[in-house]
Amino acid sequence: MGTDVTRRKSPDSAEDLIPDKPTIPSLQEAAADCRACDLWERGTQTVFGEGRRRAKIMLIGEQPGNEEDLQGKPFVGPAGRLLDEALEQAGIDRKQTYVTNIVKHFKWEARGKRRIHKKPNSTEIEACRPWLEAEIATVKPAVIVCLGATAAQALLGKQFRVTRQRGEFIPSPLAQFVMATVHPSSILRAPDERTRHQEMHRFIEDLERIAHVLSSNE
Ligand code: SF4
Repeated sequence: MGTDVTRRKSPDSAEDLIPDKPTIPSLQEAAADCRACDLWERGTQTVFGEGRRRAKIMLIGEQPGNEEDLQGKPFVGPAGRLLDEALEQAGIDRKQTYVTNIVKHFKWEARGKRRIHKKPNSTEIEACRPWLEAEIATVKPAVIVCLGATAAQALLGKQFRVTRQRGEFIPSPLAQFVMATVHPSSILRAPDERTRHQEMHRFIEDLERIAHVLSSNE
């Protein structure tokens, strides 16, 4: 019994696991063994951020989904493919960006044989925050884009409303330009094709503002 208690004991935050002078590869390696919240037990593996090490644009979602959990890579499932399409239409090369999530393990509940996404709670978000802070400090993006309300509220405050403030640049110490827009999965959940098309169009418009602000500041 004593052994099991020791195994489950975990710090309340990933802070102690951040390596000295972190790089993205050293952070990825350290995060692979993170046990700072209970989500490590439910997910297959840590899904750390990835992309260009000095990317000008960092895109931050909520958490990995089913496919991301299995592949160990962020934004590779249906929402990731939609994000790729929107970035391309906005004139942004995903290879030039860095993509990550505020929480690095997949939180889910079983529904039949399917694993259904479950929103991370504030304890899990706070436990995982040091990884994201280290990613931001290491990549030093000029633009941060929060994808969806969970990421936006975690980084811009609980009062932030994506419905009201999407597409606006918000003053923030996080980066020179910080914006929030919808999560691409919300477009996939649109009730009909016409709404999906409209939402995709608005999403691309938000991303185009980022491409524009970057080209204006070069
Ligand atoms: S979700 Fe984040 S804090 Fe929790 S175990 Fe995974 S990497 Fe660690």
